[in-house]
Amino acid sequence: MEIIIAQKAGFCEGVKRAIEIAQKAASEHPEGVHTLGELIHNRHEVARLAEKGVHLSESLASVPGGAVVFPSHGISPALRAQAQARGLQIYDATCPKVKRAQRLAASLTSAGYQVVIIGDPAHAEVRGIVAHTDGRAVVVSNRAEAEALPPAEKVAVLSQTTHRAEDVNDITAVIRQKARQLRVEKTMCDWTSDAQRYARELAAQVDMMVVIGGRNSANTRNLASVVHDSGKPAYHIEDADELRPEWFLGVRRVGVTAGASTPEWITEEVVRRMQSFDGTTEEEKYTGGDTSEPSVPAGATEPAAAEPEEEHMTEDMIGLRPGQLVTGRVVAKTDDGLLVDVGYKTEGLVRPHDIYPAGVPTAGREVEVGDEIDVVVLRIDDKDEGRPLLSRRRAEEDKAWSRLEEALQNGEVITARVTETTKGGLIVDAGVRAFMPASQVGLEFIRDLSPYVGTEVRARVLEVDRKARKAILSEKAVLEEERQKAREKIWNTIQEGDVLPGKVKRLTDFGAFVDIGGVDGLLHVSELSWTRVRHPSEVLHEGDTINVKVLKVDRERQRISLGLKQLLPDPWTQAASKYHEGDIVEGKVVRLTGFGAFVELEEGLDGLVHISQLAPHRVAHPEEVVSVGQVVPVKILSINPEQKRISLSIREAEHEKNRHEAAEVTSQQKSEGVTLGDMVGDVLDRLQARDEDKSGQD
Ligand code: SF4
Repeated sequence: MEIIIAQKAGFCEGVKRAIEIAQKAASEHPEGVHTLGELIHNRHEVARLAEKGVHLSESLASVPGGAVVFPSHGISPALRAQAQARGLQIYDATCPKVKRAQRLAASLTSAGYQVVIIGDPAHAEVRGIVAHTDGRAVVVSNRAEAEALPPAEKVAVLSQTTHRAEDVNDITAVIRQKARQLRVEKTMCDWTSDAQRYARELAAQVDMMVVIGGRNSANTRNLASVVHDSGKPAYHIEDADELRPEWFLGVRRVGVTAGASTPEWITEEVVRRMQSFDGTTEEEKYTGGDTSEPSVPAGATEPAAAEPEEEHMTEDMIGLRPGQLVTGRVVAKTDDGLLVDVGYKTEGLVRPHDIYPAGVPTAGREVEVGDEIDVVVLRIDDKDEGRPLLSRRRAEEDKAWSRLEEALQNGEVITARVTETTKGGLIVDAGVRAFMPASQVGLEFIRDLSPYVGTEVRARVLEVDRKARKAILSEKAVLEEERQKAREKIWNTIQEGDVLPGKVKRLTDFGAFVDIGGVDGLLHVSELSWTRVRHPSEVLHEGDTINVKVLKVDRERQRISLGLKQLLPDPWTQAASKYHEGDIVEGKVVRLTGFGAFVELEEGLDGLVHISQLAPHRVAHPEEVVSVGQVVPVKILSINPEQKRISLSIREAEHEKNRHEAAEVTSQQKSEGVTLGDMVGDVLDRLQARDEDKSGQD
């Protein structure tokens, strides 16, 4: 089978430049740099760069600091400003051709043109160009959209750099009818138009075409569509593993082309794999190369006798076939990759991009010499005794996808480490790169997900699509199940009188709702403290962790009443031994009513000074003689701890005080031999007269 590679295929200048800039950035920042989105649209190359310290960040927020690399397809001015404001060192890998399109769009908009961009409105390059016009440019992707445009005075047409040349011409012709004045700027990239032209020419010469490149690469998709239009059978693949031997039945000439972001080594591998199909039997081509053997479990090797290569092997050699999973030992680490002894006549090679799974961190999991590893056989060229080409990445990814598929099927909970945040949620290392939407993180909405980075989460698998390399996880599902179980346990075991830990979830005017392990109980405001509480916020805050006593359980209505003050000492139990009738003590006026004043003797212990006991004279309103917060002497008239009542008197306390002062004066007079009248007059009589006066006035 003859294999012809298109004259222009693989990395374009813009992509080469972007990779050089990113690698330079990584060499200047040993801690690693982050690209804002994929540097180029090829996951294999993105994974290879990650091994060199060029990491992918989905958003600026997830760039931890240091340096940021702008991707080849450019970014918006707003993002650039944000990166500058954060003080990040910027490495701008925007392709100069994309930059030109951005500048043109901005200046034409300023000059009063309605800019129309022909391209994919969802593509990052197009969104970036539109952002350079403050969102004023319109995007059309086909004829129909162009026909729907309103007429305009001055129109300027630009195109996405990688758009199909025929489509650009076709759509421009429609726009021409809409504008009184039309300016057409050629922003389509030469590399793209050349690659499309060469692919079209090659397709005319071969039986079948293979287009290599990321499915998320607009450039490769357009190349594939040009090739499809040629009418020849054509396949768009991302790497050699997607090739199927049966495609090549009866094919004598195959054409190969590759998108601008496809590395050379992928194209080489595809070509080698196609060459290996040359010796494949018709039966193997129809069965994808897997003729009869049952699948080989991890770590097992194939019985040598069953292999067709038997005649090339000595007794201690095993047979290998592409796609087979085998276990081997790493014998050396070289610049070309790992050399692995899998029991074959020569050591196999695992190339650098095939060592670690794509898109997940490798730190702490580096493969070392002596390690036993699983590998998938990619290619075996027995005739010239070359090294078998192996992939540990594929073996690890296959195992991870199988684990995820099993977990989905069996409803198992998996544990995975969060590696970064994105705009919509978390990126999680589940052996392969998995996604946890923000709505599936925690039980309630979490605004800032950054504290999750570096932590392990337990999750259920919601969706797995191995082919699309998509895995969606949910922590919420696990937490909700646990909460449900906890709820059932609480309702089965809770008893009145239990003391339980709880978390304050919500405060209301009438109390606080406390989560006691999956069930909310009400802690009424009256049960918060022995002192009077007007609002729960005086005692609690949302999020507080407290112990509460279960006061009442109503299983039928699913209600639980809780108490907090019951766990605090009740001042009334001590009151009888501490306070006695006739004692004069100090207290603080805490409340005034129409019938008197409440005076707090200590926290939780209030007594009433009836209005008649406030002063020796008549008092119409308590405010006339006392105020809230004032500290006053009071005499205890009576105390009843059972009814939680204490009667107090300020009048009596003052009277006692006066009597005491008088007695002291008398005693002093006696000791000094002078009469009371001589020294100070009849103090006692005067005081008595004053009291009587006031009573008389009343
Ligand atoms: S395809 Fe063209 S525009 Fe796009 S990165 Fe390459 S050189 Fe630049």
